[in-house]
Amino acid sequence: MIYKRSSALFAEAQKVIPGGVNSPVRAFKAVGGDPIFVKEAKGAYLYDEDNNRLIDYINSWGPMILGHAHPPVVEAVVEKAKKGTSFGMPTEIETQIAELAVQMVPNIDKIRFVNSGTEACMSAVRLARGYTSKDKIIKFAGCYHGHSDSFLIQAGSGAVTFGSPNSPGVTQGTAKDTLLARYNDIKHVEEIMSSNQGEIACVIIEPVAGNMGCIPPIDGFLEELRTLCDTHNILLIFDEVMTGFRLAQGGVQELLGVNADIVTFGKVIGGGLPVGAFAARSEIMNHLAPLGPVYQAGTLSGNPLAMAAGLAMLTELHTKPEIFTSLADKTEYLHKGIANALTNHKVTHTINRIGSMISVHFAEDKVVDFDAAAKGNNDTFKKFFHGMLDNGIYIAPSAFESWFITDALTYEDLDETIKAVEEVAEIL
Ligand code: PMP
Repeated sequence: MIYKRSSALFAEAQKVIPGGVNSPVRAFKAVGGDPIFVKEAKGAYLYDEDNNRLIDYINSWGPMILGHAHPPVVEAVVEKAKKGTSFGMPTEIETQIAELAVQMVPNIDKIRFVNSGTEACMSAVRLARGYTSKDKIIKFAGCYHGHSDSFLIQAGSGAVTFGSPNSPGVTQGTAKDTLLARYNDIKHVEEIMSSNQGEIACVIIEPVAGNMGCIPPIDGFLEELRTLCDTHNILLIFDEVMTGFRLAQGGVQELLGVNADIVTFGKVIGGGLPVGAFAARSEIMNHLAPLGPVYQAGTLSGNPLAMAAGLAMLTELHTKPEIFTSLADKTEYLHKGIANALTNHKVTHTINRIGSMISVHFAEDKVVDFDAAAKGNNDTFKKFFHGMLDNGIYIAPSAFESWFITDALTYEDLDETIKAVEEVAEIL
């Protein structure tokens, strides 16, 4: 495929935008080469500036669960835009989407809308700290909760109890309040809780991880985490920015039957517009300003265009629940096809899948945590990525990302993808 115009646009972009991108994952830093500039997208396909057609497995990193430019969503946004794009005053549609979200998601009474997943998680943690009057939080290595300071911490050697900042600009003061645990390792969580008695406000977790590739929780892990949080009086925050309204109408809480105290959303809930949200029982949510003392705000929060897109998207998912089964079936079909192709060509791999999330780890062992994901062969991934791209298949340009299946994908698209894997597997 030819990417001449994309490369030229990238050269221009780099002069005025750091790294030429407005979010680092868009650059092809991990895989090499220039990023592709997209011109438009429809259904399961992207059309780039060189007029290549690509089957899209990123789908804006999750939101486009029904495909790009899904007509009900586009129409809702266009109609709303004609009536004004922002007021900074209450609108009826905010209550409508809130009512629907509360109906779809178990265990929440109230929801507040923000503008991104980062804001949602940052605000959820502030609320948890304000509610419990405690400072420390537990997060898991390899989980991503946005780029707020408290979350940019990863386990370094010896930094098991106290995090150390892994981005310049995050202060030691902030880092010391973030305690790191190993994903899927309940013993480790227990140890951290025992040695920080009375100091931990909350545990924040991707209940199905998607930011170290897809890593579902092992049997019993979330249930035991719930019990530990109850025992130690710690709030449990499920970061469902990726999984919310994707793995089931009610997200992981519904799918795996474990309740969280606070849930965060992003991606699907905004139908492709900049939306995040956090939600909980009234008892907790009533601590937020203007009812309570925990401050949280936003000029564009609950923006009418964003609410229109989100409401149209949630309405589609609510009225057509069969979409979730169809998505899971497509993902299973893809899983089998990719696994066969890689096995036939003796390519070492492990595939993780749940619902409409899947990732191919070029690793021998089971991938249950960040360390295991990091053992994946990155050279193989790079070749795989570029090989797939040459065959018109667009997957995330990093081994530490999940693929997102969209309902717009047909079985012919999936066969085309599997055929590409077969071809690429020959050269791996
Ligand atoms: N939480 C999770 C689980 C995410 O996957 C992301 C983004 N990929 C975020 C939070 C942050 O969301 P945003 O990029 O909208 O700030």
